[in-house]
This record gives sequence, C-alpha cells and structure tokens, in this order.
Amino acid sequence: MNDFTANLTAITDRYGDDAPALFEAAFRRREYRLRHGGKHCPICERDLTVSAFSRDSQARDGLRGYCRECDREKYLARQAAKAAKAAA
Ligand SMILES: [Zn+2]
Repeated sequence: MNDFTANLTAITDRYGDDAPALFEAAFRRREYRLRHGGKHCPICERDLTVSAFSRDSQARDGLRGYCRECDREKYLARQAAKAAKAAA
C-alpha cells in the first residue's frame, strides 16, 4: 500500500458517506498538480510552480503548505508578535 492509497483508506474510515466527494476533490487536486507541475497556496489563493514553495521533509508532498512569500509573512508576523511580547 503506497502513501496515496493509505491516505484514501484513512479518509474512508474518517468520513464514511462523504468520502467519495473527498476522493474526487483529492484526485482533482493531485491531477491538477501533476499536470501543471505546481501547487495552490491557500493563503494568497494563487496557483504557483513548485519552486515557489520551500521544501518540508515532514510534509506529504515534500513541500511547505504555503508559498515562500506567505511563509515569510507568517514568519515576520511571528517575529513581530514575539518582539511586542518581549517589549511589554
Ligand atoms: Zn501564498
């Protein structure tokens, strides 16, 4: 059983009757990604090439969930929050 099959089995176990629709969505995303060689960033809502994403060995597809730009903004926001907290 490969990762993808294992993932589908996990979805079936968890979502039951909703699983077919989720399968379809998952297949569509996967197909889209393979066809375009890219990935969708859920923050800026852009479809970008995989090179716009940093690597993440923990992630299923080996890439970060957000593009480099959004990743950087999240990082800067965290740093700013940390600095604000330290100054308080
Ligand atoms: Zn983004």
